[in-house]
Amino acid sequence: PQGNFFIYGNSEIKIFIEFENSCSLSNEDREFLESIASFLIHVAKREKWLLTLQERRELLKDKAYKDVLTGLYRREILYDLIEKEFHRSKRYGYHFSILMIDIDNFKKINDTYGHAFGDKVLVTLGEVLLSCIRNYDDPVRYGGEEFLVVLYRAELEEARRVAERIRTKFLERRYEEAPDLSISVSIGVASGVNGENLWYVIKKADTALYQAKKKGKNRVETYESK
Ligand code: GH3
Ligand code: MG
Ligand code: MG
Repeated sequence: PQGNFFIYGNSEIKIFIEFENSCSLSNEDREFLESIASFLIHVAKREKWLLTLQERRELLKDKAYKDVLTGLYRREILYDLIEKEFHRSKRYGYHFSILMIDIDNFKKINDTYGHAFGDKVLVTLGEVLLSCIRNYDDPVRYGGEEFLVVLYRAELEEARRVAERIRTKFLERRYEEAPDLSISVSIGVASGVNGENLWYVIKKADTALYQAKKKGKNRVETYESK
């Protein structure tokens, strides 16, 4: 056999070797090249299979982790989500902050404009949240019309500014179905440091949210520790 090429494989994968000079391969050379080519094809197939498995796993994870309506994280995975950063906060003394966000008078919005419109409002709030936070912060759909955001390495004052931006941006949104309607949120803000118990910080943010509702809604309240 004479020529510049060696080709091995099937219709799916081919190994193609081009020699710089014209040469003749002995049967032994040919067998040797074939065994290498067959090994490479084996590896290539395996890699391809592993990649699809990996992709499928990512997809499943995404589905399991995210709320179908808003695409934000589901409440159930909150702990998994922040566990790593939580330990880092503990080790290095980072601050982290929690925003608890609740749509004002949402029941009335549902009753007046219908449940489908209510869903659209929830999706809109999800979009506003994403546009106001850094991409390593975690937005969570915490309940029906209640959202929670974890801001990593953010102190109370910075968190309050983010909350204020969310509040005004959402209030300014207009809806085709009701051009004169502006919808507000109330937000409670609290901070923790040195890995302070996360659930306790969430509780503080919830207390601040309750204050915001009590003081007339459409406002941001921070939990100031004494
Ligand atoms: P407040 O200002 O005190 O927060 O009052 P509110 O009406 O917003 O709060 P309330 O807890 O009374 O009502 C929440 C409503 O949210 C009731 C429920 O039907 C509605 N809701 C919960 N989940 C969904 C959802 O996925 N889609 C829609 N459209 N509505 C939802
Ligand atoms: Mg509400
Ligand atoms: Mg609520």
